[in-house]
Amino acid sequence: MNRREKANFILITLNGLFPEPRTQLSFGDDFTCLVAVMLSAQCTDAVVNRVTEKLFRVARTPQEFADFGEENLRNAIRPCGLFNTKAKAIIGTAEIILEKYGGRVPATLEELEALPGVGHKTASVVVSQCFGKPAFPVDTHIARLANRWGLEKSPAVAKIEATLKSLFPVCTWKTLHVQLILYGRKFCPARGHSVEKCPICSRFSSHQFCFANR
Ligand code: SF4
Repeated sequence: MNRREKANFILITLNGLFPEPRTQLSFGDDFTCLVAVMLSAQCTDAVVNRVTEKLFRVARTPQEFADFGEENLRNAIRPCGLFNTKAKAIIGTAEIILEKYGGRVPATLEELEALPGVGHKTASVVVSQCFGKPAFPVDTHIARLANRWGLEKSPAVAKIEATLKSLFPVCTWKTLHVQLILYGRKFCPARGHSVEKCPICSRFSSHQFCFANR
């Protein structure tokens, strides 16, 4: 089975397992999406959702975040970890969005990546989930699966992103990104996976579908 055949099989299986996948982060609009994704760095979605449930009651817009201020934000987001860095970046981002973009979140990767604390993955999630533009954010789950399935041998995220974009049709990227994360969380942890319970690899035990240590 070559990589393209693997990709087709993976796509069909994921569509069966997760027909209507939803991103696990809770947000209401473009800006709260950006804030939630910024908070999710090295933090679980569940913790981010607990924090934003309270936070978004007092601040939702760039102006409200700017008024809320860095110190209040630091305290509010403490459970997310890296709270000093994240608070500084979110307030800086809110101020730039107000001054440069009239309060609206910019819709291009380039503009988003120029905001403080907004890296390529965060920008890719926002353009994909909020603006419906083709992007393929690669997180640890997706990188692990791409490596283990032999779709891309390199651990470099940029290489993995380019390979996945070449293997899967553009129209699938937005959904596939979420499906892969759900699959990784459910079946393919860093340690302690079970081939028998893996709906994709269990079908191919004699064909070296997965290159993880078994
Ligand atoms: S066999 Fe294990 S390591 Fe390979 S993709 Fe399935 S769950 Fe992950």
